[in-house]
Amino acid sequence: MDVSVVGVLALQGGFAAHEHALNELGVATAQVRTPADLERVDALVMPGGESTTMSRLLETSGIFDQLNARLRVGMPVFGTCAGMILLATEVLDGRPDQKSFAAIDITVRRNGYGRQVDSFETDIEVDGLLTSFHAVFIRAPKVVSFAPTVEVLASYDGSPVLAVQGHVMVASFHPELTADIRLHARFLQLISTPSKVTRS
Ligand code: GLN
Repeated sequence: MDVSVVGVLALQGGFAAHEHALNELGVATAQVRTPADLERVDALVMPGGESTTMSRLLETSGIFDQLNARLRVGMPVFGTCAGMILLATEVLDGRPDQKSFAAIDITVRRNGYGRQVDSFETDIEVDGLLTSFHAVFIRAPKVVSFAPTVEVLASYDGSPVLAVQGHVMVASFHPELTADIRLHARFLQLISTPSKVTRS
């Protein structure tokens, strides 16, 4: 693999468990809190948390524009839950001042699985995995539409919950909350595909 460091956006939310999963896979990680931190990484995981808060912190920290530029030139990114919301083209039920990167052609509804059932867990079938993956959903976003260019890797209840488009991978659930590191491994495969712009 030609990637040296995978960043984990650490402004807010569940970044530590992502770092742990990546370290288990033998990958060097770095927490990203400033534009200088982002400069030093070759790929990024955007964790779950609260997308409205993360959107605000991305702007106040000065990361937003730089991250946007990196995404435009193909930096691999894996967004989970709130991270998925931030990468989506369109966000329904967001706060009016909430921004997203439009890095993957999906429309998501925040808390789209309903407020009554805040959280649930279920086993899902993932394209390319031999056995099912235990998925933990916490106030998860629901994908309500997606472009044909989006490759759906797993669905639940008729909606995509894991998808890839080019260098962008998103999950509406929390793969970092189980000991199963297969989806992080899948993300690393995305990093090693040659379409991205390599930095030295
Ligand atoms: N509902 C949260 C949001 O809108 C996401 C929840 C999560 O990341 N677990 O940002």
